[in-house]
Amino acid sequence: MNKVRHKMILLVVCLLIFVVLTKALPKKKEEPEELTRPGADLEIIVYNTRDQVIRYMDLEEYIVGVVAAEMQASFSIEALKAQAVAARTYALGRAIGKYGTAWENHFGAHVCTNSAHCQAWIPKELYSTWYPKADPEESWKKVEQAVYETAGLILTYEGEIINPLYHANSGGITEDVQEVWSSVSKIPYLSSVYSEGEDNYSSYEKRVVFSGDEFRKILSKTYPDIIFSGTLAEDIEVIRYTSSNRAKEIVIGNTVVPGTKFREIFSLASTQIEIDFPDEDTIEITTYGFGHGVGMSQCGANELAEKGKNYEYILQYYYTGVEIEPIPEEIAAGLKKE
Ligand SMILES: [Zn+2]
Repeated sequence: MNKVRHKMILLVVCLLIFVVLTKALPKKKEEPEELTRPGADLEIIVYNTRDQVIRYMDLEEYIVGVVAAEMQASFSIEALKAQAVAARTYALGRAIGKYGTAWENHFGAHVCTNSAHCQAWIPKELYSTWYPKADPEESWKKVEQAVYETAGLILTYEGEIINPLYHANSGGITEDVQEVWSSVSKIPYLSSVYSEGEDNYSSYEKRVVFSGDEFRKILSKTYPDIIFSGTLAEDIEVIRYTSSNRAKEIVIGNTVVPGTKFREIFSLASTQIEIDFPDEDTIEITTYGFGHGVGMSQCGANELAEKGKNYEYILQYYYTGVEIEPIPEEIAAGLKKE
């Protein structure tokens, strides 16, 4: 009788232990999952151009700061995810020295925080100064979600990490890379595509006005031998366009000015331009789009996201023929935290 009772008690205790264990198990499982997030063990060296300090950063934490700086958090989550994958790919392409020798310009760091050179980046504490209208806590959380849900993913073309150039607004159509950088030959994944709905954004259209004097003076700094022979309207003509309808060559007086140079000299938003002369001594330049126009358009990405497309679709739309893959071991190996 006693033996049977003992056995019964043992059985109940065993059952109780089993129940406690199974209840505890899922909790225990969640923790290691977070720790083994792809890319969490990787480190990137960042030169902060604001305080001129070099920092060793968790790759994904750095990407959060890039996405926060490069794209408004009010954009759709799928657009933010596309931006996160592009930003990660961009950073790693530079970290392994595949695209340019950027590190030489920042004392051995892989990337810098200057948007004109590498990618913009901000720490959380500066977020509200950049985007005063946004709720910093909510916005930062949304950006983190976009980054962590795509953690460890990059873009490849035929097995190689790509150079994922991107810009704010394409003005309706993106540009072929070789039209902007003449030293580069055609790259299939950086080819022109149509991009709808970009006129819904304030970055779509800009207008600048110069007097004849101002216009000629600015040009003469870059082209000291330039000769003007008539009125502004007589002296200026766009003679060639790229296939995406951007100004390729502009004749001004006796000089041929490349469209990209014209944009740089007059700090124009893009090379998709319309030139008007409201009167004989005034030139009005209207630009469509914002940025070089190559690769992914951020406004276009948001338009696609709002139409229900996911980040994979968005990335494969702007970067024709690419794959979305985990960071290859040969790249990860060189960036492992010590
Ligand atoms: Zn840089």
